[in-house]
Amino acid sequence: SGAEAASSGQEASRPAYLDPSKPVQRRVADLLARMTLKEKIGQMTQAERAAVADDPSRVAEWGLGSVLSGGGSTPAENTPAAWVEMVNEFQEQALSTRLKIPIIYGIDAVHGHGNVAGATLFPHNIGMGATRDPELAEKEGEVTAAELRATGIPWNFAPCLCVTRDERWGRSYESFGEDPALVKAMETGIEGLQGPTPDRIGPDHVLATAKHFAGDGDTAYDAATAAANEGKPWNEQKYTIDQGVTVTSREHFAAVGLAPYGPAVRTYRVGSVMPSFSSVDWTEDGVGNPVKMHANKELLTGVLKQKTKFQGFVISDWEGIHQIPDPSDPANTGLTGYKVRTAVNAGVDMFMEPNTAPEFMQLLMDEVEAGRVSEARIDDAVSRILRQKFALGLFEHPYASAGKVDEVGSAKHRAVAREAVAESQVLLKNSGNLLPLSPKSKIYVAGRNADDVGNQAGGWTITWQGVSGEGVQGTSILDGIKQVAPDAAVTFSEDASAPTDGSDVGIVVVGETPYAEGYGDVGGPECGWCTTPQQESKSLSLQPEDKAAVDKVCSAVEKCVVLVVSGRPQIITDQLGKIDALVASWLPGSEGAGVADVLFGERPFTGRLPVSWPRSANQVPVNVGDADYRPLYPFGWGLRTKVGSGPASAAALESARSKGDTELVDEIVARARDAAQASAVAGTAPADWARLIADADHALLTGDPEKAYRLLRRAAS
Ligand code: BGC
Repeated sequence: SGAEAASSGQEASRPAYLDPSKPVQRRVADLLARMTLKEKIGQMTQAERAAVADDPSRVAEWGLGSVLSGGGSTPAENTPAAWVEMVNEFQEQALSTRLKIPIIYGIDAVHGHGNVAGATLFPHNIGMGATRDPELAEKEGEVTAAELRATGIPWNFAPCLCVTRDERWGRSYESFGEDPALVKAMETGIEGLQGPTPDRIGPDHVLATAKHFAGDGDTAYDAATAAANEGKPWNEQKYTIDQGVTVTSREHFAAVGLAPYGPAVRTYRVGSVMPSFSSVDWTEDGVGNPVKMHANKELLTGVLKQKTKFQGFVISDWEGIHQIPDPSDPANTGLTGYKVRTAVNAGVDMFMEPNTAPEFMQLLMDEVEAGRVSEARIDDAVSRILRQKFALGLFEHPYASAGKVDEVGSAKHRAVAREAVAESQVLLKNSGNLLPLSPKSKIYVAGRNADDVGNQAGGWTITWQGVSGEGVQGTSILDGIKQVAPDAAVTFSEDASAPTDGSDVGIVVVGETPYAEGYGDVGGPECGWCTTPQQESKSLSLQPEDKAAVDKVCSAVEKCVVLVVSGRPQIITDQLGKIDALVASWLPGSEGAGVADVLFGERPFTGRLPVSWPRSANQVPVNVGDADYRPLYPFGWGLRTKVGSGPASAAALESARSKGDTELVDEIVARARDAAQASAVAGTAPADWARLIADADHALLTGDPEKAYRLLRRAAS
């Protein structure tokens, strides 16, 4: 037809890189050949929204490849429509440049699209790990991708593939758990984000980021720094574990820190990887030679790109390269040519330089001109970035439409999050089968996390560190209880000061208040950003006001349930005797009704511990596989409130296996676990019951239900 002829005539004259019918490789090569060094370096540079927002023409002037929103960096009016408008404004600038290369906008949507008011907030990863449900993680990815795209954003700095090995680490809540096999199982989230065809991500999905490469959850607790912190004002204390040093053998590092990256790259083809702020120090080389991950050529280029064949691009973490020690800058004050070339040559492709984009670009230019960074390395970095921009379809559809804004926080999305919340709840103790509660109970609800969506949501919500209180939209646990059990008589008293008389049951909701990064066991980080001294001491111990609320309610009412809303286990051993039912609720996000669903038996408790629950602060770190493993509750522990039917025996398991009936396989193993847990509670289990239960869960995660079953039977004997 005439139209076809016209369009093919047009194609002949337009450059190959703008022709979507050409293979991506061809388009990349064509575009690269047209670019100046300055334009290439621009593609390798990412600035913060705040650095360009007051004058968006800087996007064009600097020739930026990317803009990001750091935690809480939102447009003045935090509505989905305002986000679309803002991203499009930056895009317009990018498209006004000579080669019209679109920017890629990135953000941390680590538990749903948390920066955006009214978004659907999922449980943080630690809760997702408790679900043991990879399909649900995939659905979370899909919902998050849809909400990101509805606000014009095609790139998510998630998921964190950290394997948390010491919960004094303040980012433990970003981990799916302590067992690399569990983290691997939950990587389906990457597919949810990127969609099933990562070479053609298209307009309904986003680019994912596996972070923080690697070993970020396995840094050593720095007791010397912790001791030095003691007595110092909170804002003068130094990091004790976050951004620290992973002191390890190459073998252990491969088995723990690195393990999740194999499937992320090979199976899910994740489009970007972010190095960790931490360093690695190989014990076999003699402790004392830590190398920053951003400078680690052996791992970034050798292992990730060459050995694992990662085809995407490496995006540095926030000013991550500034932390590379430069011998000529002992005070480590800023950005230097040395730091820039070390990182580029190690394999970093794009640079998160929130407030120093022009300085970075000039330094890199100088390094290339001086021959200290090769043009081949630059071309490789730029090709990797462009490939993902083509995969996303950004050249064809650079602008976001405002037509999808209603998807943000939609009822459909919230239903998925509510399901995730229910599945994430781990029932640790249930004396006399107190749970589920009758929906007609007289209930006394107390505790500072009972009616606080901000506390439920934790970090990376509206602001970087998260916010307590009203600032976060959603359903609190208290609201959820009223919704799910409208016939219950509910008294709420946050500090438990109201009289308890008449109530059948107390529900005390305790735990942590929001934080995102930094916290170790003793003291806070070097804290430019702390806003309240209350953030000073994040310890695994229950806060004094929480202990008081538990003591008060549990001694006054006949039966009491304690929910721990936190990003990691809290030491609760001393209170345990008073508590009839104990639930690890993690950081459930916006859908508090999901917690109520399991409390009242609308759904069964099925969650299992993603990390070992320590008995005392002194016991930390405690992990599955430890020689003397005696946590309060082991990895994999989780009581159930509904038991399935049918035969349960080794023979039944074998037959279910041979028929491929995975549901029955799971049920048979679960019943063996029920029995093992019951004998642990009764005190009749063998001394190593905790190890048996934890090892069984590991066996299950590695595809060996027979072994899991055998271990659990032993624990039940
Ligand atoms: C965090 C990253 C995050 C980045 C951008 C850093 O402080 O370590 O996880 O992606 O900020 O917000």
